[in-house]
Amino acid sequence: MVFNIENALIIMSVIIGIILILLLISGNIKEYISREFYSLGTLNQLKVCGRKANKAIDESIRKLCEIDDKMSVFKENSEISKINQYAGKQSLIVSEDTYYVIEKAIKYCMLSEGAFDITIRPIVALWGIGKEDVRVPGSSEIKQKLKVVNYKDIVIDKNNSSILLKNEKQEIDVGGIAKGYAADQVRDIMIKNKIKSALINLGGNIFVIGSKDDGNAWTVGIQNPFKRRGEFALTISVINKSVVTSGNYERYFETGGKKFHHIINPSTGYPSESDIISSTIISDNSIDGDGLSTGTYIMGVFKAMRLIEEMKGIDAIFITKNKEVYVTSGLSGKVTLTNNEFVYKNSI
Ligand code: AMP
Ligand code: MG
Repeated sequence: MVFNIENALIIMSVIIGIILILLLISGNIKEYISREFYSLGTLNQLKVCGRKANKAIDESIRKLCEIDDKMSVFKENSEISKINQYAGKQSLIVSEDTYYVIEKAIKYCMLSEGAFDITIRPIVALWGIGKEDVRVPGSSEIKQKLKVVNYKDIVIDKNNSSILLKNEKQEIDVGGIAKGYAADQVRDIMIKNKIKSALINLGGNIFVIGSKDDGNAWTVGIQNPFKRRGEFALTISVINKSVVTSGNYERYFETGGKKFHHIINPSTGYPSESDIISSTIISDNSIDGDGLSTGTYIMGVFKAMRLIEEMKGIDAIFITKNKEVYVTSGLSGKVTLTNNEFVYKNSI
């Protein structure tokens, strides 16, 4: 081969190409693979960086569909639907997944003193939440259905993983906590596949694994409850954390000039009207964040701040109707208000 500039350039480009391929294979070039898909009644996104990213995403999607099949109240053969069909009659032996979610849910029913109550299903169904035929039910219907709402009637038996609802007509709905469990399962799959950096977004329930590829913390935006989707009230910077928000803007319908959202106060049977309109929980496990975000939303800012400040390793951001932002002490320096209509109220 004759040595001239042209040949030298060709050789150099081949060498650079080989180096790039080797770097990609060894995982030294950081590139995120992103996939969006529908499951758990919502749009999800997984953004994953690592050699086994595609495998981890495939496994995660399979697990999420499995969780949906076991826990959806909209699937007749799900374990949750079967528990509801057997109410007052017999117990049902359930999978480890479902047992764990119900056991944890009961913990949050107790901690929130019944603000979070998974036996809320008959009321949720009355309002048509999650379906097309939403409507404002009559007060007598609500009163009637409220009689069977009581998480203390869920009997769980660890020995044989069985669940029983004591009374006929009782029904459970784990929609307020299952996405958190699902996010934890995806996190475990990512770790098993040696993924060091990923963003798990299950319909707004966020879990970040590690830091971003540039080594910086992830910045997660918290929706401005007064504005359309994607406009933030504040941001939080996190590494290896779950960030779960319950908000009045997530699922609602409007009639007669009034908005009715999907988080029901079990003591009234109506959408919660506490001072909180957005409740974010930051935690190591998303199941805790999910149960607590729905519960604290209903409890109101005073009780909610007291509860979360008492819990080790868990933090919260509450936005009130008056655009006040309450942040627990563990988050100092990590929150940035991005809209000047909101003001900090860091103590109660
Ligand atoms: P989240 O978006 O996590 O706050 O959960 C809201 C969902 O939880 C609703 O769509 C209902 O399925 C269910 N839910 C509503 N009110 C309650 C409640 N008081 N306790 C438990 N689950 C609830
Ligand atoms: Mg929740």
